[in-house]
Amino acid sequence: MASQSLKRILIKVSGEALAGDESFGIESRFLDEVAGQLVDLSQNGYEVAIVVGGGNIFRGMSVAAGGADRVVGDHMGMLATVINCLALGDAIRRLGGNARVFSNLVMPDVADHFTAREARKTLEEGGIAICSGGTGNPFFTTDTAAALKAVELECDALFKGTKVDGVYDADPATNPDAKRFDEISYDEVISRDLKVMDMAAFALARDNKLPIFVYALDVAGGVQAIIEGKGLSTRVG
Ligand code: UDP
Repeated sequence: MASQSLKRILIKVSGEALAGDESFGIESRFLDEVAGQLVDLSQNGYEVAIVVGGGNIFRGMSVAAGGADRVVGDHMGMLATVINCLALGDAIRRLGGNARVFSNLVMPDVADHFTAREARKTLEEGGIAICSGGTGNPFFTTDTAAALKAVELECDALFKGTKVDGVYDADPATNPDAKRFDEISYDEVISRDLKVMDMAAFALARDNKLPIFVYALDVAGGVQAIIEGKGLSTRVG
């Protein structure tokens, strides 16, 4: 039974989450893990949208660093997100879920062009809306795409899956005394210079009062447990 306060959510996972133990590409075990969590959420009555990064395949910055055109590199990065999202949509359908892949890059043979209207309709009908192609614009990230889609789709919260289970006052990988925040305000994130999402994404969330839950991707059932108040995360809002 879905929680009334967080019924419609958008989840952001980086491309690396699909690569699992590998540094490149998609590992089916991790793809199926993400897909399974989405199907469970959807079958439990939550309305779920997802934005996937492309860093497991390509990042525009890396080609630009080698002297190539950044805009071309970013187009390649956005295409990488489409590849990930097509794989995720297929995995969801194999698990018995209902998913529709949208793209902000126009490619009618491959994915439906993203409009808020159509994506909201998918959510209302119980389908999982997979949003690929980032924002459709170079010089942005899929974090920003996630914040933008969450606002456009009138989501109750954005869930950002990371390697750690929340926002800490220091790097928990290097500082054993680092403390995790259960909750923190947007302003405190800025004043403490904590890295939650890039600034464009963060500003969009703050301006639209969109709560961000930072959580650990590798915890089974993670998002649903957090919604039900049983899992660890940091709520930024
Ligand atoms: N990208 C872009 N515009 C967007 C989103 C993404 O140009 O709105 C490109 C950019 O080159 C980026 C790549 O797509 O490096 C992959 O996205 P991101 O780095 O956010 O993926 P993640 O780190 O989450 O896997």
